[in-house]
Amino acid sequence: MNGKSFLVDLTKCTACRGCQIACKQWKKLPAEQTENTGSHQNPPDFSFKTLRVVRFKEMPREDGGVAWLFTPDQCRHCVEPPCKGASEYPESIIHDPETGAVVYTEQTVKEDIEIIRGACPYDVPRVDESTGVINKCDMCFDRVKAGMLPACVKSCPTGTMNFGDREDMLELAEKRLAEAQTKYPEAQLVNAEDVRVIFLTAYDPAEYHEFLSAEAAPRRGMTRKSLLAGLLKPAKHMMRG
Ligand code: SF4
Ligand code: SF4
Ligand code: SF4
Repeated sequence: MNGKSFLVDLTKCTACRGCQIACKQWKKLPAEQTENTGSHQNPPDFSFKTLRVVRFKEMPREDGGVAWLFTPDQCRHCVEPPCKGASEYPESIIHDPETGAVVYTEQTVKEDIEIIRGACPYDVPRVDESTGVINKCDMCFDRVKAGMLPACVKSCPTGTMNFGDREDMLELAEKRLAEAQTKYPEAQLVNAEDVRVIFLTAYDPAEYHEFLSAEAAPRRGMTRKSLLAGLLKPAKHMMRG
């Protein structure tokens, strides 16, 4: 399998959010109007103008302490993207054969956000309710095509974000995993065969957040057919009367 991939080594992330800012800057996306909710995480989730968000969670440890779990989250650029599989207009989502990038276009506005978002196992796509534009990370397609690193990778100072040919990233992933397991026995690679954004976790992926692993999000990743069936099925309370 060719193309490009990311390795996101969560054992090295400090949640500095440099990558989150770099993404905003390169994409010329405005800041969110947000508020402090008592967590380091801000803004609290993806939106059509926040394509990358550093998630934060505190995990109680057996020794009574707390582990801080940081997840710089983005589209996984699935090897066989379910969002494209669920799309109504085949030309509206590009799956680039050279890099493997999954890129939404101006035509994606014609798609149904409930179908596209429901198909994504990682709950990534978001819509601008005022325009209908559906948005997500595009692998910095313009930069990568020009031989540059994605902005988030370029900005990361810790070695968390890595990007390159898929074979090289898979090799690096195995090397980093072996290193990580000397300190974190539960360390693992998440859905590495299915995605081009491969996370290396220090702990069970389910500890991080709901959508880090595809297996942790069973209600997502549905087909267009099953999603349409769900949308068309009358709600139970409407059937009683
Ligand atoms: Fe983590 Fe690197 Fe992003 Fe900082 S720039 S939050 S270290 S991934
Ligand atoms: Fe599509 Fe979601 Fe996969 Fe990204 S993570 S390619 S939005 S299905
Ligand atoms: Fe943002 Fe580009 Fe990184 Fe995607 S690859 S999260 S668009 S900076």
